[in-house]
Amino acid sequence: MAKAPQTDTYTALVNQPLGQKLAGALGLPRPAVLRRYEPGQTLVEGSVLVLGGGHAADEAAAVLLDWGLDVRRQSAPADRYGAVIACYDDAGTPADLSATTLQLGAVQRKLGPSARVITIYRDPLGSDRPAVRAARRGVEGLTRSLAHEMRRGATANGIVLGEHTALSAPGATGALRFLLSAKSAFVSGQFIPVSSEAGALPRDWEKPLAGKVAVVTGAARGIGAAIAATLHRDGATIVGVDVPAAGEALAGVVNSLAGTALQLDITAADAGERILAHCAERHGRLDIVVHNAGITRDKKLANMDAARWDSVLAVNIESQLAMNQVFLAATGQGVVADELRISSLASTSGIAGNAGQTNYAASKAGVMGMVSATAELMGPAGTAGGGSINAVAPGFIETEMTARMPMATREVARRLNSLQQGGRPVDVAEAIAYLVSDAAGGTSGATLRVCGQGMMGA
Ligand code: NAD
Repeated sequence: MAKAPQTDTYTALVNQPLGQKLAGALGLPRPAVLRRYEPGQTLVEGSVLVLGGGHAADEAAAVLLDWGLDVRRQSAPADRYGAVIACYDDAGTPADLSATTLQLGAVQRKLGPSARVITIYRDPLGSDRPAVRAARRGVEGLTRSLAHEMRRGATANGIVLGEHTALSAPGATGALRFLLSAKSAFVSGQFIPVSSEAGALPRDWEKPLAGKVAVVTGAARGIGAAIAATLHRDGATIVGVDVPAAGEALAGVVNSLAGTALQLDITAADAGERILAHCAERHGRLDIVVHNAGITRDKKLANMDAARWDSVLAVNIESQLAMNQVFLAATGQGVVADELRISSLASTSGIAGNAGQTNYAASKAGVMGMVSATAELMGPAGTAGGGSINAVAPGFIETEMTARMPMATREVARRLNSLQQGGRPVDVAEAIAYLVSDAAGGTSGATLRVCGQGMMGA
């Protein structure tokens, strides 16, 4: 089986002194080695500059000081920054963007490797005044463009606050921490909406999922195995689900994590009930569900047969709809936690489309539709408790699947994002681990792309 590399050969080469010179001379892409999370690691390397004059800037500075970071409210000539937080929560017209944005530009060259720029603003749809909405959408545009300009593994992302949501709300603080940390290494040009005060911050940021029981489907290999390992690292007990044919690999994964395995085809009519029964019997509870299992059966539509179309839709979306019905109906009734957290794997193919993938893109766009509607059922006004549901849409990720692509296609696909490299399964896993944590409780119905700001479907 083709093995997925940790860092692709080209990235390794251009990070050697000779390769660096050559790439520079020939004008070739120079992807950086990204800083990735390790337990105990400093949250941000270097000072954090907070810009902007509204409430969010004061709140951000207070939160960052509480985390022991070196916070600056004004830039000084000798400063070097690990992160810049630009707050636009008080912008009422596009002219209001000027001061903060130009200050941000003035420090752009002072950002260290894998630095973070985080813009904070309010949901454009929260105001019906044209100038306010224009200003807010303006922040989105400048953030996306800045993300394209970032160098040396640095990223730019936004946090979109609801009209009455403070930055000190658990969900906003949780989003800030995720985006600042090395856990968001492959997330750039993206926006995390925080629309409510729901959620809670963990007692221990190293174990945010302590005491939780998490089901991960398709856990035998690839991204699913990385999700299982990451949720376990964060303190969760893992229930790995995969087809009987992958039983041995599944046992290998869950045994190494002291979890339990359930051999199950998720398209079975009673899949939801069997997962619930397993969790009740072996663990006495269910807090987190990650719908990761997925398949591709690529063919141009003119050559598509019913077997290819139906199987992809059945595994990638129909099964999730059916299982969610069972989980939501059981929410708060003993086994399923009141605040159930569900996360599902979409794909950038579901956003941009991809030749040969009408079936796959229909299923993955379907996942995004499903999470937005299910969020309403799970929200405060819904009938199924106060939990949350979100999707993660990976771009090009170094897996066995992408290692099998023809070399030239793979090489092009890798470079077509602002970080000029493929992501790793752990990058997707980190985003999932964040979204299923209580610190993301203020975010529901959203899709977060983990794609290095892929040019596809930007
Ligand atoms: P993979 O093929 O390596 O692993 C998928 C796992 O799901 C396998 O272990 C498989 O046995 C299991 N599975 C398939 N059908 C099942 C069923 N009916 N019941 C139970 N288990 C089943 O795939 P991957 O690359 O790790 O992708 C994981 C998820 O991420 C998928 O949903 C995929 O669509 C999505 N995704 C992957 C990429 C990428 O670049 N690899 C990009 C975007 C989205």
